[in-house]
Amino acid sequence: MAVENTLSIIKPDATKRNLTGLINAKFENAGLKIIAQKRMQLSKSMAEKFYEIHKNRPFYNNLVDFMISGPIIAQVLRGDNAVNLNRTIMGATNPQEAEEGTIRKEFAESIEANSVHGSDSLENAHVEIAFFFSDIELIY
Ligand code: ADP
Ligand code: MG
Repeated sequence: MAVENTLSIIKPDATKRNLTGLINAKFENAGLKIIAQKRMQLSKSMAEKFYEIHKNRPFYNNLVDFMISGPIIAQVLRGDNAVNLNRTIMGATNPQEAEEGTIRKEFAESIEANSVHGSDSLENAHVEIAFFFSDIELIY
């Protein structure tokens, strides 16, 4: 399997409940390495741009407001099959449909406040990593 980098975000519902360590333990226990990390307060325009792909969805405005409601952790995870492995560890978007042991099953508050973001393809991972980090900030 190929070694990949993927973008992970710990969302405001999770930073507010002090869950960053418990969430990152799941990534590290699964063999993913955190090779870049920053805690940030997103501006409205940054959140709008990051989720631009969802601009026409009914949940877009609420999603943007949620993403700026508190600090986030933007981070890059690296490892074998990192894009899909991260998605598996996260669990389904709707926590009611998420598998046992996944982050969203254990920690998500709702389909919106679902604790984590993860890139959904290698192509999007490249774009999303570049949104937050320059190449020299990725420390293998
Ligand atoms: P994922 O984060 O699993 O890739 P999507 O890309 O479809 O899911 O959606 C992006 C984010 O938008 C979700 O993580 C969640 O925070 C929010 N969201 C998705 N669907 C809904 C919905 N039906 N109602 C409210 N918020 C939603
Ligand atoms: Mg998505």
